[in-house]
Amino acid sequence: MEPAGSVVLGQVLTLAGDHGLGEVAAIAIRDGRVIAAGSRSDVEVLIGRRTRRIELGPDEVALPGLTDSHLHLAEAAIAIDAIQLARAETLEDGLGRIAEAHQTADSRAWLTGHGWARDRWGGWPTAAQLGRVAPGRLVALWAHDHHALWVSPEALMVAGVGMTTADPSGGAIRRTEDGLPTGILHESATVLVTAHIPAPTAAAYEAALPRLGRDLVALGVVAVHDPGLLRPDPRLDGPQRAYGNLADAGRLAVRVHASIRSEALEFVIARGLRSGDGLGADAEGRARLGWLKLFADGSLGSRTAAMLEPFEPDTDSGPAGGPGRDRGMWVTEPKVLERLTARAAAGGIATQIHAIGDAAVRAALDAFRSESTRALRLRARIEHAQLVDPADLPRFGQLGIVASVQPVHLRTDADLARRAWGARAERTSYAWRSLLRSGATLAFGTDAPVEPIDPWPGLALSINRRWAGWPPGTADFGPDQALTLVETLRAACLGPAQAEGAHDRGRLTAGQRADVMVIPAAAITQSIEADGPLATTRPRLVLIDGKVVFEA
Ligand SMILES: [Zn+2]
Repeated sequence: MEPAGSVVLGQVLTLAGDHGLGEVAAIAIRDGRVIAAGSRSDVEVLIGRRTRRIELGPDEVALPGLTDSHLHLAEAAIAIDAIQLARAETLEDGLGRIAEAHQTADSRAWLTGHGWARDRWGGWPTAAQLGRVAPGRLVALWAHDHHALWVSPEALMVAGVGMTTADPSGGAIRRTEDGLPTGILHESATVLVTAHIPAPTAAAYEAALPRLGRDLVALGVVAVHDPGLLRPDPRLDGPQRAYGNLADAGRLAVRVHASIRSEALEFVIARGLRSGDGLGADAEGRARLGWLKLFADGSLGSRTAAMLEPFEPDTDSGPAGGPGRDRGMWVTEPKVLERLTARAAAGGIATQIHAIGDAAVRAALDAFRSESTRALRLRARIEHAQLVDPADLPRFGQLGIVASVQPVHLRTDADLARRAWGARAERTSYAWRSLLRSGATLAFGTDAPVEPIDPWPGLALSINRRWAGWPPGTADFGPDQALTLVETLRAACLGPAQAEGAHDRGRLTAGQRADVMVIPAAAITQSIEADGPLATTRPRLVLIDGKVVFEA
């Protein structure tokens, strides 16, 4: 047999089979794939004169690289240069940062940014506040969850949003009791303003992506599912073009499946592009077309999640006229979800549906009832699935649905969920164990830039349902729903590969692509603490297709 290009000698977790870690003592790699996994002697016979030996220390372990199943990669890459409000503890602090950006920016430029939270700031901010710190300026700032937009008086004017503007379908304009827009737009109403902000060009994405790609690889992330942009891109002039170009130039750091929004569906079908197809010149390249991304409902933080039973009463006495007083809202009506999912399937495009509330999850499952919506190269999936009615749990397994969940959301959502959902919260929200037991495929992600790109704190959260930053005495959130270490690693490394229908990724058995990370063994041997070794893991070495892409 021809010698291996490289061998990894030491504790290797292959994730072979349906359960467990599949530990072996060595693997051999040739031409980008694992060619043997087994004992040291199995692999040593494949060592030739030019074979690279990667010898692990006794305190190290190798396993398949991570795939982030829900990372707005293009949006996150561009957002690095925008106003960051995630660390602004108070409204005053946030306004200070905005005033600073206003001083230095070109006078005609839009100020954009993200990261504010009604919850953290003790209420909804207003356009008038922006008018004071950035007079005359066009400003549009996304909430932390990207389901509400805070805009300046000038932005409202440019968008023509006033007293008589009706709420668009699937959206709401927050108003004073007299009906005046306050400066907060919910869900689809955000497009009224974002349509006027010049779109970043493909070149801008191309320039911004490599830096973030390097950061991801250093964290052990080898692949990403990008659920798409906050703005419509009907002819795929933005991220998809940038991913294709970068892949062709050999500059795309990670594998990417890039999803589309419904505005682009007919364009994509007309071009004959199907889910899983290459976006660059190379059909087998790193950039692929992902899913059609649909939104059933809004978010927990904005109380726009679609609910079977009403939310618990809201303590925030904000301006009247906003959504979410009762059972949230539909961003896309169930019958439209069903129609678009079927239309996409007919064109060879798989669908992922954002669903937070239990009514939204039910509607999403209903949209996948028809066999044709599930018989595609990429799997049918539900994003977030934060509150699931117990009656709907078995349907995940029966229909073979991927539950794409982001454990790190618990950090900020645990308290919100307890207040919004009361007793329902700990029983049936973030119910990862129940989902797994029902037969769902779990695929982990971070939802960056809503959360940081570092996937490791989320892995620890999935096991201990606890966060180091919670006030002392806060109970673990729904501890019955905690996952084991093995289930967590499988949901982070293998589940996402299964979601994209890849049979040759996510494990380190013979025939699989050699995407490998070497991490400290302490990450998986020591007890899982909210800020312990697993939560703070940093790989020493990362390979993609058998090539070293990061070395500490
Ligand atoms: Zn998201």
